[in-house]
Amino acid sequence: MLKFTITLYSEIYTMPEGPETKRMVDTISRDLVNKKIISTKFYHKSLVSFPKTGLAVKEVVSKGKAVVIRLNNNYSIITHNQLYGRWTSSRLATKIRHNRSLRIEFCTEKKAIRLWSATDISVFKTIDENHHPYIKNLGPDVLDITTTPELIFSRLISDKFKNRQFSGLLLNQRFISGLGNYLRSEILFYSNCMYDDKSSKLNTSQNKLLATNIKDVSIRAYNQKGNTIFYDDLMLKKLDKTIKNRRFMVFARKGQACYICENTIIKDRASSRRIYYCPQCQKA
Ligand SMILES: [Zn+2]
Repeated sequence: MLKFTITLYSEIYTMPEGPETKRMVDTISRDLVNKKIISTKFYHKSLVSFPKTGLAVKEVVSKGKAVVIRLNNNYSIITHNQLYGRWTSSRLATKIRHNRSLRIEFCTEKKAIRLWSATDISVFKTIDENHHPYIKNLGPDVLDITTTPELIFSRLISDKFKNRQFSGLLLNQRFISGLGNYLRSEILFYSNCMYDDKSSKLNTSQNKLLATNIKDVSIRAYNQKGNTIFYDDLMLKKLDKTIKNRRFMVFARKGQACYICENTIIKDRASSRRIYYCPQCQKA
């Protein structure tokens, strides 16, 4: 029999951000929504007394970095994965080769859909989802179709956000949700700005470029499984052809040469998280 293994880590480990959460949701949605559930296991305190019989999953959605599982009993299970939490879907026969703690398991006739390690798990009535302490504070989800570059631009230049440094702003889920640490470095690189800049110091076209990149780099990361590099033909002609095997322009590239100008990529800390930039391309 073929053995399948579950991989929980990528080479350059990053916390799940909006794109990774949405990809997880796509997978569990495909394998779980409207499928007959054969067995259910709940190991988390918030779910111990939750009824397990007759359950069906109507819908799975992501909100920022939270996964929302809407059930047929008008309740939603909401999980926020933080550092190590992961939803996985695998064949029933797949051998588990890690020792993470199992929190939730739904088995269908073909697949086992499981939540590992997450500790932030709660149950809300579906109509009350927006009362969840994380969800109630979320700004527009960067991957949502209604979150346009124009909407992002208007938030960027608003009185509320225009004087916030990008180092904190791009991690602030109230501004735009779903952004995180690797996206922050990459978005700033593509927008030629530094993390200590703020919208009020930039001109309109710079702010428009940043708003567009907040959307485009996030969509690209979602479509390319976490890679933010722009695989444009023109770009590939100019750059090393092997760039397709690479993931980021600056993130996790401390001491390496910038793909554009060959200056050395710098690593720093901003808003308590590591950040990477090119001192030449991102000159103020
Ligand atoms: Zn550069």
